[in-house]
Amino acid sequence: MSENGYTAHTRLFVDLPLGQGQVITLSDDQRHYLSNVMRFKLGGELRVFNGVDGEWSATISELSKKTLKLDIAAQTREQTTLPDVWYVFAPIKKARIDFIVQKATELGATALVPVFTRHTVAGRVNEKRMLANAIEAAEQSERLCVPEIHAPQKLDKLIANWPSERALMFCDENLSGKSVNESLAGGDKNIPWAVLIGPEGGFEQSERAMIKKLSNVTTVSLGPRILRADTAGLAALALWQSQIGDW
Ligand code: SAH
Repeated sequence: MSENGYTAHTRLFVDLPLGQGQVITLSDDQRHYLSNVMRFKLGGELRVFNGVDGEWSATISELSKKTLKLDIAAQTREQTTLPDVWYVFAPIKKARIDFIVQKATELGATALVPVFTRHTVAGRVNEKRMLANAIEAAEQSERLCVPEIHAPQKLDKLIANWPSERALMFCDENLSGKSVNESLAGGDKNIPWAVLIGPEGGFEQSERAMIKKLSNVTTVSLGPRILRADTAGLAALALWQSQIGDW
């Protein structure tokens, strides 16, 4: 047994139905990872989850150069849902997007939503790469689901189509907002939320005005210093989790 009480430390996300007695064939990438990187052998034990059926213990029942099959044994955890919070962010440079995707996943974001604002510098977003990073972070952080990756869109479109039931915590660097703890105290825990972080260049006045017209927006300050976008994202999610989420 490992320290956290689970028999097998390695966890994999598989996009397949899971149930007792089922046999699943892993993708080439996962076979390579288990057999060549992690040096798993026939009979090796791990845990798998798919975001729907909870988490299951699994044993390698067939292993060759081309195929790796797992016997699904017993359910180790039932599926649960996370407090619903989207992480909406203006994309930054590639390496720092990798970082923010991993960290936002660890911090419990349920969807990652790239948004282009007037001062966003990064030109394109690699959604496949975002998903790969999110899966890896979900596997190692004991999550039972992987955050959804939304297609990038422009801020005005996002705001125009904003789902009315979803509350927005708008992190505004102009430092006039109240502190998060003050603003979120008593915030509704029974509705979906989102956290919005701008680009390194900050928001434009017209963008602020557009965002603040949403019906359920809370403008917050993350303290008296200007944070870089990735730092601001981590701080914002942590504060949201402690006030509204599951910390
Ligand atoms: N260039 C801007 C800073 C942008 S920081 C300026 O100098 O004013 C990038 C993003 O992080 C901001 O758009 C905001 O969403 C968030 N952020 C950074 N520091 C913040 C703070 N103290 N309060 C609230 N949001 C902050």
